[in-house]
Amino acid sequence: MKLHEYQSKQIFAKYGVPIPKGRVAATASEARQIAEELGGRVVIKSQVLVGGRGKAGGIKVAKDPAEAEKFATQILAMEIKGLPVRKVLVDEASAIEQEIYLGITNDRAAKKPVMMASAAGGVDIEEVAATTPEKIIKVHIDPLLGLRDYQARDIAASIDLPRENWREFGQIANGLWGAYKATDSTLAEINPLVINKNKKLVALDGKMLIDDNALMRHHDLAEMRDTDEEAPSETEARKYGLSFIKLDGNIGCMVNGAGLAMTSMDVIKLFGGEPANFLDIGGGAGADKVAAAMRIILSDPNVKAVLYNIFGGITRCDEVAKGILAAMEEVKPEVPMVVRLVGTNAEEGRALLADADMITADTLADAAQKAVAAAQSPGGKGA
Ligand code: GDP
Ligand code: MN
Repeated sequence: MKLHEYQSKQIFAKYGVPIPKGRVAATASEARQIAEELGGRVVIKSQVLVGGRGKAGGIKVAKDPAEAEKFATQILAMEIKGLPVRKVLVDEASAIEQEIYLGITNDRAAKKPVMMASAAGGVDIEEVAATTPEKIIKVHIDPLLGLRDYQARDIAASIDLPRENWREFGQIANGLWGAYKATDSTLAEINPLVINKNKKLVALDGKMLIDDNALMRHHDLAEMRDTDEEAPSETEARKYGLSFIKLDGNIGCMVNGAGLAMTSMDVIKLFGGEPANFLDIGGGAGADKVAAAMRIILSDPNVKAVLYNIFGGITRCDEVAKGILAAMEEVKPEVPMVVRLVGTNAEEGRALLADADMITADTLADAAQKAVAAAQSPGGKGA
């Protein structure tokens, strides 16, 4: 789950990371009022869950409350990378002397969190990583020992931070680690961490990704989820307890079990196709869950064929068939569908689907080949 900048910075602040004074606003007049309270120059920042807002024109410095209102009006009418701006953060503006990057993520290969820092902050860090990786310092954190003081000092020295800021930097690095650990994050990032004209370090931007699998023990964080910002298909999938990830191909997949779903995707690729999604309906899915899964798959306009690969165990093939029929009734799919049912109540399931307009297959290889062929044939169903 992604958190907004303002949410991430509030969490950082709780762990001792200095952030600018400011508040979030949903209207331009609210933005003006916050600017009046803050006094002086403010920065109006679009709150959307994508990076590169600055480059897209979604961040503007205003010299007075009237200008704050004007910029807030403009920014609230924007769409950034397809996402409408619904809120702006109004922060006291900082005069920036230097922009630093500081972040923590999981290094899966090292099986440890890694803190990364760079003197080349502010800009797109992925670009720095790609073009000048030597400008990024990496230090692994032992999760039991935490971030050690000497490690923070090493990082400060490696990015040529002025010595007078080392203490502050140590507190911030430690605070970021504290926030990362306590929230079960997979990313906690400050970009830029700036040295302002008073020679103080301040976190101007904030980004956090929280591990979805840990949200059951963070109800306060789970409530921060902004479903306005998600693809509707993902919100819908979560509601029905489906594991769903949208991909770029054109063959929709509905499978029970994560391993089988991955295998199905592999086999589709083996026969020259591209899966449109990963979708695991889980064990023992009933008809309404199957129907929801089908609606989600078919809401993707790229989908040119759907493959159902159901290995009945706890899941009963007749239940799945009922779900498919109910969903077909409702969404009237225009694309060809290939179904492979084996295992518990497969006979009953196939009988239920006998009159439905579906292509049947006995093996996964057979099903995948038929789905690839169906997705390639122009005109879809009946062609
Ligand atoms: P992002 O583009 O989505 O990463 O948004 P950021 O919050 O990182 O802002 C982008 C850039 O805007 C920063 O790197 C700064 O250069 C600039 N910026 C952000 N806040 C301020 C501010 O308070 N004062 C000034 N002068 N520039 C700012
Ligand atoms: Mn940024």
